[in-house]
Amino acid sequence: MSLEVKRFKFMRLIGYVIFLFCIRMHAYEVHTAGCILVGADNDSVIINYLVRDIDSSAPRFETFFGEKLSGVPVIILIPESGKEYDKITQHVLPDWSQGVTVTRQRRIILRPANYFNPDRFREILLHELAHIYLAQIIHPVRVPLWFNEGVAMYMSDKTVSWEDGIAIGNAIVSNHFIDFQDIDSLLNFGETKARLAYLQSFLAIRHLTNVNGPEVVQKILRSVATNESFNDVFMQKTGQDLIDFEYDVYQEINKDYRWMSFLQFDNIFWIIMVLLVISVFFVIKLRNRNKIKVWDLVEEE
Ligand SMILES: [Zn+2]
Repeated sequence: MSLEVKRFKFMRLIGYVIFLFCIRMHAYEVHTAGCILVGADNDSVIINYLVRDIDSSAPRFETFFGEKLSGVPVIILIPESGKEYDKITQHVLPDWSQGVTVTRQRRIILRPANYFNPDRFREILLHELAHIYLAQIIHPVRVPLWFNEGVAMYMSDKTVSWEDGIAIGNAIVSNHFIDFQDIDSLLNFGETKARLAYLQSFLAIRHLTNVNGPEVVQKILRSVATNESFNDVFMQKTGQDLIDFEYDVYQEINKDYRWMSFLQFDNIFWIIMVLLVISVFFVIKLRNRNKIKVWDLVEEE
């Protein structure tokens, strides 16, 4: 075992001890559908929202993954502050991280927000919960990160906002599209690149399920769980190898979002400026023409 691995394991252990300590400290606890939500009394409103989200989403998750949460309950902790979140996660996560799942210990930690946005919290919770369901099927085998994150985004009811569309359009125009295999280094990306990686992963899984039906994800996971190679399984279940699939996803994204790069603020600003200049030019021209008409009339008198 290398020194790095030993250090990492030690840090993880410390994080786990702090996690257990925080759970004991927090008073509010609700059990539902294979999960235990834990937080401070102050966060009881948020927790009750999340309980509703878990209950209403459970049937959809069970159909999609083909099984219920089983075994040790999943502990979902909402720390009291961003500081506590960083302490539990041992400062190893990037600043943009909004939540984390430790699949082996079946725990989810959600970063508390400055203000409570139920939709945003719901999206993050469902995203992390999808990682747990996925790991329950394949553990201890792994799938590429774009696939794992894409499934999590897909199950979080993600929709592509205008802002997302512009970000994707810009990435295509500026040739910053990320190769699927590079998404494995996601945790080392800055916020903008990470956001793009998540979006690409989501659009890949959306394309995959649109073409092959949502059940294809479960079929791939169940075969991968028997230690078959991910690339071979992907080919068997979709009739397409990963290179062709990635090419198709790129073509679809290119068709749907390239044009949106024109909607970014800079372009809109210049389009409005040009329209203003043209409008002023015509107004002045019209006024001058009217003046000449008046002078002509005066001369005729
Ligand atoms: Zn994730």
